[in-house]
Amino acid sequence: QFSGTLDINRKDEIGQLAKSFQLMTRKLSENDRIRKEFISDVSHDFQSPLLNIKGYAELLLDDKLTEDSRKSYANVIQSETERLSSLTKQLLLLTSLDQLSSPLEKKTFDLDMQLKETVRKFRWLLEEKEMTLEMDLEEVRFTGDPAFLEKVWENLLSNALKYTEIGGAIEVVLTEQPDHVTVLIQDNGIGIDEEGLERIFDRFYRADDSRTQETGGTGLGLSIVMQVVKLHGGTINAVSRKGQGTTFTVMFPKL
Ligand code: ADP
Repeated sequence: QFSGTLDINRKDEIGQLAKSFQLMTRKLSENDRIRKEFISDVSHDFQSPLLNIKGYAELLLDDKLTEDSRKSYANVIQSETERLSSLTKQLLLLTSLDQLSSPLEKKTFDLDMQLKETVRKFRWLLEEKEMTLEMDLEEVRFTGDPAFLEKVWENLLSNALKYTEIGGAIEVVLTEQPDHVTVLIQDNGIGIDEEGLERIFDRFYRADDSRTQETGGTGLGLSIVMQVVKLHGGTINAVSRKGQGTTFTVMFPKL
């Protein structure tokens, strides 16, 4: 007779079934918790720029405004709008990466060329911050999704630039080993403390000092990086020292 609860300590198939149901339930409620947390983070991150836009738009309606205040209020509205737009784009990308079926469109291409092209996009920013960037790239043919991988390099490079002071230096190294490919992106910037290092790949995490620096980030860049690297069967690791710099190492197994 069925009693309503199954004994997970039973040694037979029913026991095994009960055990896997228990695991499934645990996993589901864990997913539920993560989802709720995610939604609350998203809402919070949308709320603050929206409030700023609303507030500054109201201030702009004042007839007696000086030209300077008018400009500075409009600037806030513009940068907060950009923030919302990049937040939306990154969230859409993360959601597409989260779909269970792999969205990857793999091709075989020159990884060194891709890194060079991506670095090129940052030339003007490097010049603006009077930074140097050194590249040491082996020629590597690689099979993966070029569009998503480009996002990885873009996010890592833009962080290296954002979190490094004027005059700093970045190094990009690509090497090929018999069974894997390694990309290293190193900066001599502000660095990350131990507590931060444990959380930088979490969605929406931003170290306190980078928040106050008003770098305009969303805290989603590294989550996207991690997700894309994982979908390629790779690993990413960060080594950092506060005030000295950070090194991200991405490793992909060769197929
Ligand atoms: P965002 O840059 O939009 O804040 P990310 O997910 O890309 O979000 O990074 C999360 C946090 O990790 C950043 O806010 C920053 O505190 C820290 N971080 C990432 N890359 C670096 C780096 N190269 N140097 C120092 N801190 C970094």
